[in-house]
Amino acid sequence: MECTMKKIYIVDVTNRDGVQTAKLGLSKLEKTMLNIYLNQMGVFQSEFGFPTTRHESLYLQANLELADMGVLHPIRLGGWIRAQVEDVKTAFKLVPKIRHLNLSVSTSEQMIVGKFQGRKTKDDILQMMVNAVDAAREHGAESVGVNAEDASRTDLDFLIKFASAAKQHGADRFRYCDTLGYNDPFTIYDTVKALTENVAMPIEIHCHGDLGMAVATSIAGAKGTIDGGQDAYINTTVNGIGERAGNADLVATVLALTKSKGFAGKYELGMPIDLSKSWEIANFASYAFGVPIPINQPGVGANAFSHASGIHADGVLKDPHNYELYDYAELGRGEPVTVETGREICSGEYGGISGFRHLMKKIEQKIGGKVEEEVGDVVEISFANAEEAEKVLELVRYANVCAQKPLVEDELLFIAKYPEIARKLLTLTPLI
Ligand SMILES: [Zn+2]
Repeated sequence: MECTMKKIYIVDVTNRDGVQTAKLGLSKLEKTMLNIYLNQMGVFQSEFGFPTTRHESLYLQANLELADMGVLHPIRLGGWIRAQVEDVKTAFKLVPKIRHLNLSVSTSEQMIVGKFQGRKTKDDILQMMVNAVDAAREHGAESVGVNAEDASRTDLDFLIKFASAAKQHGADRFRYCDTLGYNDPFTIYDTVKALTENVAMPIEIHCHGDLGMAVATSIAGAKGTIDGGQDAYINTTVNGIGERAGNADLVATVLALTKSKGFAGKYELGMPIDLSKSWEIANFASYAFGVPIPINQPGVGANAFSHASGIHADGVLKDPHNYELYDYAELGRGEPVTVETGREICSGEYGGISGFRHLMKKIEQKIGGKVEEEVGDVVEISFANAEEAEKVLELVRYANVCAQKPLVEDELLFIAKYPEIARKLLTLTPLI
């Protein structure tokens, strides 16, 4: 019997669930920037995309290169595929260096009947999944997660049988997907605890907000896993962006795990999360997705630390703890933000060298010619010669074609520092 307390890890799925959301999407450079911010925050894993989708191949390869270079380190980059041998083969063919995979298949009666329409039985599903796990192992996957889609509408006995089979075939983690946001904190706790006790393997909790409970069900599920004696993993997305009503918001989930009455000081994160990056990552995702942060968003909303009514304002001025559970500075807030109200030069797909040099000069002045930590270590924003500046400008133009909006400073810096990686991210050739 182990006496050490099991821990909770964050697996962010913005670059998978977030980008598959209707009406929303990210360029490959934006996805890469998110991976960089997630790594800086201390997130354990980014589910960084779809290894069987051809237009993802170069992006996934480029990000794995960034991992080899130490830029995306220690974050783990995991791909999402269907639990099928064919998909495993395709994933390793298109992205040979992929090391971490999550294999997904529906397990509920509703989905098996409603989606497969009699073509597959529960036993077929189980067999398909174990074959896929075997194939992933044979191809050299370092870690394999198995996802039970619609787990919350799957009967517990089958879920236990399914997860146990996954474990026997060498799966490292089991993902319990509350795909439709059907669970509540009480039922997910009971179900996941029973599941954990029966299968004795780490469980990932994947929840949606259709009933407004994504964060609550996520932490309750994680508690069930920990209390059942295993490490827990929670799937989040930045700003909660995900299918339909969205997923568990990254910042809100970490706040709930570290500040709430039942979790603070009682449950531990496996990797410490640097919440001071919250403001930056939330605002970047908001800009990249083109979706404003709600005014009442926990931690990063415009009103999260605003007080107007007499009693509250008086109370917070006397002692912030009267009406604030945590401090704004912890979230990386409080720095003045410059909003350009006069002349503005932006990057664009038809930009020229003069505007580009002006932009880079401005960034240089702002950060004193050096960037520490933003995109890696120290970088000088100077180009060896005019040719090199032209080359970076050309990549910036292509990045603008993909983004269809001005690039942010970190993106410009990234392209200047890693032009060869940027070239890969920006190369899109339909393979038909
Ligand atoms: Zn989902």
